[in-house]
Amino acid sequence: MRKLQQAMMLTDKGSANLKKAIAACTLTNFSAILPFAVLLQCIMELLKPLSGGEVSWNKMCLFFGAGIVSVILAALCHKNDYRKTYVASYLQSEESRVSIAEHIRRLPMSVFNSKDLTDLTTNLMGDVANSEHALSHIIPQLFANGISIMFICAALALYDWRMALAVFVCVPVAFAIIVTSRALQGRLSRKHIAVKLAASDRVQEYIEGIKVIRACNMDGEHFAVLENTLREMMRLAMKMEVGTGVFVTGAQTVLQAGIGLTVMVGINLLTGGEIAFIPLLIFLLIVVKIYAPVIVILTLLPQLFYFQNSIKRMRDLLSVEPMTGDTEKPLSNFNIVCENINFSYNKDAERTISGISVTIPAGSLTALVGPSGSGKSTVSRLIARFWDTDSGRITIGGQDIKTMDPEHLMSYMSFVFQDVVLFNDTILENIRIGNRDAEEKQIIAAAKAARCDDFVRGLPDGYNTMLGENGATLSGGERQRISIARALLKDAPIVLLDEATASLDPENEASIQQAISTLIEGKTVLVIAHRLRTIAGADNIIVLDKGQVAEQGTHDELIARDGLYKRLYTVQTESLGWTV
Ligand code: ATP
Repeated sequence: MRKLQQAMMLTDKGSANLKKAIAACTLTNFSAILPFAVLLQCIMELLKPLSGGEVSWNKMCLFFGAGIVSVILAALCHKNDYRKTYVASYLQSEESRVSIAEHIRRLPMSVFNSKDLTDLTTNLMGDVANSEHALSHIIPQLFANGISIMFICAALALYDWRMALAVFVCVPVAFAIIVTSRALQGRLSRKHIAVKLAASDRVQEYIEGIKVIRACNMDGEHFAVLENTLREMMRLAMKMEVGTGVFVTGAQTVLQAGIGLTVMVGINLLTGGEIAFIPLLIFLLIVVKIYAPVIVILTLLPQLFYFQNSIKRMRDLLSVEPMTGDTEKPLSNFNIVCENINFSYNKDAERTISGISVTIPAGSLTALVGPSGSGKSTVSRLIARFWDTDSGRITIGGQDIKTMDPEHLMSYMSFVFQDVVLFNDTILENIRIGNRDAEEKQIIAAAKAARCDDFVRGLPDGYNTMLGENGATLSGGERQRISIARALLKDAPIVLLDEATASLDPENEASIQQAISTLIEGKTVLVIAHRLRTIAGADNIIVLDKGQVAEQGTHDELIARDGLYKRLYTVQTESLGWTV
């Protein structure tokens, strides 16, 4: 049972529930035999005149009563079995989903580089649903049917071992056929899952990119890609069905041969006078009935082989080491120091960050600038511990951030990204993300400071307006201001601003700049900026080029140095005078 618990990744409670489910299923199987046993007794009683006896109508009345009781008992057992198996499996899958979601939250971002959204969604929904199906529809039935078959086999062997052997000799052969197909089925189901993921990706891409596809007249071309993937999925599904079907049908045919064998052995024993006619008749009735649970097992096993892939995918995800660290130790100050840090997104690729050593003093405003792809965002992600550096270290207040729990570290930081993520909830709740314990009046104060209040009050339900998926109904500037309100509400001592105003029109930019000024007051601030005029007043400007520090200093110092910064600045000021 321990092995099964580990294989199915069950909690102790889940394992205990599974045991109860197996016991309930076994009880259902035995209770289902009761009406049948009563019926047999009736038949034997009714056949008594054939051997010169007399039918006892008292006994027949008793059998009738027993029949009704056994049917009621079977129904009660079935109800209990339903509750035990299904409720237990739904509880277990809820726990699995929550623990996977919790685990994903703590994973290093490198995992999200190698896995796409569909893959993770499938982990969370599809794989858990498959394991739920295995727990509710397969494993208890497999065990219960196995136990019932063994029990009946032993009971029949006590009566006549030769007939029992004839009934059961084909069962191991049928199982052997299904078990042999396991490797082939495993291969086919892995391919099928992979192509299903690819198809989900294509469908998502097609729906998300529908505007671009239409605008560029790419409908046919893109649809052909989607159609090919869906066709491949159908081809593999059919191949898998045929592959499974051949083995299951083969195993069932072998099993059916057991009926013929029992008849042959029975007739042989009857003619030899070693078995009476009525016991033989009962054996023949039993053999038809007894193969039903075996056939159920033969069809359930391939499904279990298929679902094993889902469980393996869940195990693979859960085996990725989450980021850990100290959750308690408070930071004494907010000096951020990068000491000779090196980093690459892909271990085989060139370094994205190479030997950077910089200091961002507490309470200062530091800007990171440089050409596109020079590594500005990467440095900010390393400071926030979205990724860990390959070598060198980053300290805050003298504490190496690798020793800090990411969530603890995050409690000291606010972010404002250019791409704002909004959730399908009210505006109020979207701002509350900054501080879960904030009261409504604090949220509204933050919204006012972030210049959100005016546009929010213009919406049909004000702060209770539902935003829809990713706030699709708001403009870029409005979304940006909501993210600033969140950061204001969080009131963290370190603020990271990544291209916060880069894509906004001048009017929006001015109001967002005001909101940002309120946000960064008295904080340790790191700004990533493309538009150099917005950071001319920074205490220190770090210029990155190809993942290295090219130069640093104040705006005036860098202009006087006549290096990369001056070149970037000159290009930008000249382009401001262009007209289209
Ligand atoms: P920009 O100004 O255009 O936003 P940046 O200076 O912020 O650029 P980064 O986003 O840090 O540059 O990217 C630095 C390099 O790392 C680029 O070559 C980019 O392609 C690569 N890179 C960024 N993010 C990832 C990622 N998640 N996986 C792999 N490579 C990445």
